[in-house]
Amino acid sequence: SEHVSQRRLPSRHRFFADLSQCLFDFVIELLPTTEEMAVKENVRKLLERLIRTIEPESRLLSFGSTANGFSLRNSDMDLCCLIDSEERLSATDLVTMLGDLLERETKFHVKPLPHARIPIVKLSLDPSPGLPLGIACDIGFENRLALENTRLLMCYAMIDPTRVRTLVLFLKVWSKRRKINSPYKGTLSSYGYVLLVIYFLVHVKNPPILPNLQQMPPLRPISKEDTHLAGYNTWFFDDIELLRTRWHSDNNESVAELLIDFFRYFARDFSYNTGVASIRAGLLKKTAKGWQNDLSSSRYNDSRERNRLCIEDPFELDFNVGRCVTKDGIYTIRGEFMRASRILANRPERAVVALAELCA
Ligand code: ATP
Ligand code: MG
Repeated sequence: SEHVSQRRLPSRHRFFADLSQCLFDFVIELLPTTEEMAVKENVRKLLERLIRTIEPESRLLSFGSTANGFSLRNSDMDLCCLIDSEERLSATDLVTMLGDLLERETKFHVKPLPHARIPIVKLSLDPSPGLPLGIACDIGFENRLALENTRLLMCYAMIDPTRVRTLVLFLKVWSKRRKINSPYKGTLSSYGYVLLVIYFLVHVKNPPILPNLQQMPPLRPISKEDTHLAGYNTWFFDDIELLRTRWHSDNNESVAELLIDFFRYFARDFSYNTGVASIRAGLLKKTAKGWQNDLSSSRYNDSRERNRLCIEDPFELDFNVGRCVTKDGIYTIRGEFMRASRILANRPERAVVALAELCA
């Protein structure tokens, strides 16, 4: 009734304001310290110097969360080695040689994986005063698409830093605490969760919180050579200074409202069976991408297991970022979205308590 809704409004707003504040406070505590960032940058420089003794023309660049603005305390370091010379060693040989070198010259625990689908060297460092939890680092080679998708996510983070970063960082912590952030165990990578958030803010929210950077017209004509990498179109509008003055979202929802709505959407509304979340093109059909679960035929068993949760990579359009998610994995993830939705829908008396329960 009129009377009830009038009485409920202020408390509803108060809850959103409280929860938003709690979310900011919660993620701020979990950001990396400047000291940690400095140590990581020094590690990168040291590794780059060492790699140059094998490949003088190489550069070691940071990607993933350390470079896209979505980094939490003690997150791992993703490094990519680019080699500018024409004649270079194969990734397999480089991984083997670099593994040997790092084993000899550094205190890192070294694990070269020269024969992996994407050859990498895995490194870890034991805890020290500057890095109480040590460091974990992967070095890959020539992964230029990953550098580009990192830059895309960073641009999205910069358009509306408060709302985007708070949401993403909270969901990363939440998914780790709830143990649904392990592609090796059939759930979704951090990268996958970040794409779901961007998809939600660009395509589900109306009015949108973020523009679609991949569909904005370029300021000046650009040639195909300048936009394509390994056959994929990696162009996106990246003039963030300009965007910050020109883009204005008509959506003023608070972080709390967006989070609640995000959980509700992925608990209830997203069409897991037929839909593909694409930050480039919105909601697509699995059938249109050839990613359908053909339940009637065991011949498609493999594709069925790979395409339970479909998230299109922003550039590698034939790559499903959610392909590691198993039948159990999707059941668990969706169950977690429902649980979170339920906890927040009750609008508990104290937002802090709700957050604690959410991540318990
Ligand atoms: P965390 O802080 O949890 O390590 P992160 O942002 O570094 O999170 P990761 O899942 O570690 O996210 O991914 C790091 C980077 O590796 C991503 O930004 C992306 O560039 C690349 N990447 C990871 N997974 C995939 C994938 N399935 N497909 C394509 N690129 C990926
Ligand atoms: Mg990472």
